[in-house]
Amino acid sequence: MKTIKLAPGERLVTNQLNRKGVLPQSIVDAARDIVANVRANGDAAVRDYCQRFDGVELQSFRLPQEQVDAALEGLDPAFVAALEKAARQIREFHQREVEQSWFTTRPDGTMLGVKVTPLAAAGIYVPGGRAQYPSTVLMNAIPAKVAGVKRVVMVTPPQKDGLISPYTLAAAKLGGVDEIYMVGGAQAVAALAYGTETIPRVDKITGPGNAFVAAAKQIVSGDVGIDMVAGPSEVCVLADATAKPMVVAADLMAQAEHDPLAACYLVTCDEQFAREVEAGIDILVAQSPRAEITRASLDNEGTIVVAADMAAAVEAVNTVAPEHLELHCKDAMGLLGGIRNAGAIFVGAWSSEPLGDYVAGPNHTLPTGGTAMFSNPLSVEEFVKRSSVICYTPEGLLSDAPATQRLAEAEGLWAHALSAALRRRVLEQGEDAV
Ligand code: NAD
Repeated sequence: MKTIKLAPGERLVTNQLNRKGVLPQSIVDAARDIVANVRANGDAAVRDYCQRFDGVELQSFRLPQEQVDAALEGLDPAFVAALEKAARQIREFHQREVEQSWFTTRPDGTMLGVKVTPLAAAGIYVPGGRAQYPSTVLMNAIPAKVAGVKRVVMVTPPQKDGLISPYTLAAAKLGGVDEIYMVGGAQAVAALAYGTETIPRVDKITGPGNAFVAAAKQIVSGDVGIDMVAGPSEVCVLADATAKPMVVAADLMAQAEHDPLAACYLVTCDEQFAREVEAGIDILVAQSPRAEITRASLDNEGTIVVAADMAAAVEAVNTVAPEHLELHCKDAMGLLGGIRNAGAIFVGAWSSEPLGDYVAGPNHTLPTGGTAMFSNPLSVEEFVKRSSVICYTPEGLLSDAPATQRLAEAEGLWAHALSAALRRRVLEQGEDAV
């Protein structure tokens, strides 16, 4: 791992982090072609890409409902119990995010408020093919269902045998997914954004995926809502010598094993501790079945920041603005107030980040690449719309019309002023005045 040693008073700057946020142009161009072709040619184009990229020829993209209904049959009961626990805890957490419509009445009787309406249809992308991600299904479908979305449509690439993973299917069943289509990549995103003969258009697309999926989401954004364009996973561990180096080593590796581009940061004031963590990584990597990916990630993207004091260490964390942050220090809860930028904050020695990936309850879809400086975890809020509600009484109209007219005149908008003035005239001079 690369080490950055900050002198007393020196601050970490984002340029030192060597982030690779931008999608390669060749992938953006390929995704643009796929999106345009699916938009123009619908199912025929989707079928062609499915054959070309997934090696599968499908008669119908839609998974028959009987397969969804039977999803839990024959599965390892321990897996089903774990999935049910995760689903329950994710649901309980997200239910606390539900926003109610609200209305307030002014003394003149005018009513103002916000009407909250669930999206009619949401599309969730679940990566597949090479691996299976039942946790992704739960983390996207449950907030949508809790928000009240009637039609939750899942897309995921078919496996080589033309089926989808039983684990993914089980999660879809427990997460309340309404329809499943076996389509992946940029073509799935395009189908959800514009609709095809058999795949319905949705209002918003959420969920992670590879660079083709991310590029396609970026391209269709605006025609349809998207949650975010997620980059490689990240963890930042802020640790002092009260932490066990071997545990911190495992926590860094838990992120590094995702992807050679996953980024791991260790921030500490204790250089000796940092060296012990590195020694721990050497021991553990040798035992890891994912040693190659883990080593590549730590060697290329791993960074140790040695700060002069805890205040500087906390500021370094705020500069990193990590997707996941672990506070692995003596007074971890005491540090929480100083953390301004992080997608999810795991406080104290027992809060292992993978607990949050699967079962804790908060959403694991988090801002990456420093976007935690200004954006939020996926939540129920992403699946609703808010409409302002304005209902004037005659008294309220008479009170606010003069100011409206004056401001409209200042902006040179004649009919704006007239709209308020005519109503005022009716109230002041009678029904026949206009
Ligand atoms: P994927 O489902 O994202 O992509 C597979 C699809 O990519 C295929 O169906 C195919 O259509 C398309 N594709 C493949 N090669 C192509 C090419 N040359 N041209 C055009 N399209 C092509 O699955 P994946 O590839 O395994 O990637 C999954 C990604 O999702 C990984 O990067 C993983 O780290 C990420 N992930 C992130 C989270 C999270 O919460 N942040 C969770 C799970 C997975």
